[in-house]
Amino acid sequence: MCLFCEIIAGNIPSTKVYEDDNILAFKDINPVAPVHIIVVPKVHIESANDITADNSKYVSDIFEKIPEIAKSQGIDSYRIINNCGEDAGQTVKHLHFHIVGGTKLGEKIV
Ligand code: 5GP
Ligand code: ZN
Repeated sequence: MCLFCEIIAGNIPSTKVYEDDNILAFKDINPVAPVHIIVVPKVHIESANDITADNSKYVSDIFEKIPEIAKSQGIDSYRIINNCGEDAGQTVKHLHFHIVGGTKLGEKIV
């Protein structure tokens, strides 16, 4: 099982901030900003390259819930980040979106 599948299964502890049947959101263990949340589908999708018509419902579920998750952390302005693949710095091979905020972020993407 991958690291995030282990977190979803409850085998590795995490600080959960939102959970439903399809998605889980938890605090990043190494936050880069005052708010840094990871949102994952509860099924193993390796990366954004593996989103298909069959599993894209999980992605829309995530994006429908992101505003609520952000609001629960006290923010309504934030950056959503997805690293896809090695060169982009994807270290965990389970599709995830970072919600980063709680401070004034730099204007540049990279
Ligand atoms: P990536 O670099 O793949 O886009 O993001 C992976 C993220 O997962 C990193 O920001 C890293 O800090 C976070 N992370 C790695 N291991 C753990 C863990 O065991 N628990 C939590 N909560 N976050 C983790
Ligand atoms: Zn996984």
